Amino acid sequence: MSIRELDQTYVANTYRRFPVEIVSGKGSLVYDTDGREYIDMGSGIAVTSFGVADEIWQRAVIEQIGKVQHTSNLYYTEPCAKLAEALCTRTGMKKVFFSNSGAEANECMIKAARKCAAENKGPDCFTIATLTGSFHGRTVTTLAATGQAHYHELFQPLTPGFAAVDAGDIAQLDDVNAKTPLAAVMIECIQGEGGVIPLDPAYAEALSAWTAAHNVLLLVDEVQTGNGRTGALYAYMNYGLTPDAVSTAKGLAGGLPLGATMLGERLESVLGYGDHGSTFGGNPVSCAAALSVLSRIDDDLLADVRRKSRAVFEALDGAPGVESVSGMGLMIGVRCVKPAAEVVAKCIGRGVLFLTAKDKGRLLPALNIPDELLMKAVGILKEVIAD
Ligand SMILES: *Cc1c(COP(=O)(O)O)cnc(C)c1O
Repeated sequence: MSIRELDQTYVANTYRRFPVEIVSGKGSLVYDTDGREYIDMGSGIAVTSFGVADEIWQRAVIEQIGKVQHTSNLYYTEPCAKLAEALCTRTGMKKVFFSNSGAEANECMIKAARKCAAENKGPDCFTIATLTGSFHGRTVTTLAATGQAHYHELFQPLTPGFAAVDAGDIAQLDDVNAKTPLAAVMIECIQGEGGVIPLDPAYAEALSAWTAAHNVLLLVDEVQTGNGRTGALYAYMNYGLTPDAVSTAKGLAGGLPLGATMLGERLESVLGYGDHGSTFGGNPVSCAAALSVLSRIDDDLLADVRRKSRAVFEALDGAPGVESVSGMGLMIGVRCVKPAAEVVAKCIGRGVLFLTAKDKGRLLPALNIPDELLMKAVGILKEVIAD
């Protein structure tokens, strides 16, 4: 059987894959079984922050694999401790819990918020408000947090204790809070899976004031927006927010599984011995990879991400067939007249891998994508959209 047939026979049918079998790559170029070259504008859904088979990243990973690949969390390891230090130093957060994915990073954030609220505000205070259109993961609890009903339908009953409110309408928080006292509000600064929709800065400011005034925790899901993606180290920094917890994953380790839940002052001591754990969480190889990734996300790189972003916005804004362009940094959504799925399929035929987000096209290239490749891919996208 071919790889495609094997996959279709033996891998659970949860993914509608494109007819591309990727075997290798270098930076922002990937190659399929026939040796065809593609410009990678998705970076594995914002994961390969510095592209495929990046040499600096590879060195960090190989060096750690040569020492020890796993120890369990019964012992100390240097990459885990140093990564926690780097994350706290660069965000002002106080403690980090490591897991393996975005959903798990959110689970930890939810558990910490629930325990804190129960201790400080009583056992009835467990509800977390999330935004309509949000995406927080696929576990039964993070699905409940996800503000999109179609994800919920097949898996009832979901974890109770979540309430969806519309972004932009603070009054809805007052209503929910009056009915069931809120433990926390959880947001994405830019909804990724929901269609690359940035939060209105005025609403973010009002939300921050509202949570402070009502002693409600502010949780920010930076699984997709984090680690330089939006032109700031974390997207909440673009909004001047002071979250009580921040979750991240996708791009953190540049292509290895790693989730991190950063806990601020109000949550740093909430979780104690035995309250939470993960066998693989904080794996030394993933942490060594993340240390390498983070060390390269400096002011120059972030300025470069913002510069590239402006170039993409300028190229696409008002182009024929383009209805709107949204996003920040190298997290960009394109609403076009044509169905996004058709555009993505045609771009594959032209050697470019794009993504969709709901009914939009989505660009999430590697942060260090060379200008020529970025603009070549955007040029092809423009032609396909206009065609
Ligand atoms: C991808 C994503 C998740 C889920 O991450 P997994 O690693 O797939 O569990 C959660 N929140 C946001 C905002 C995401 O983009």
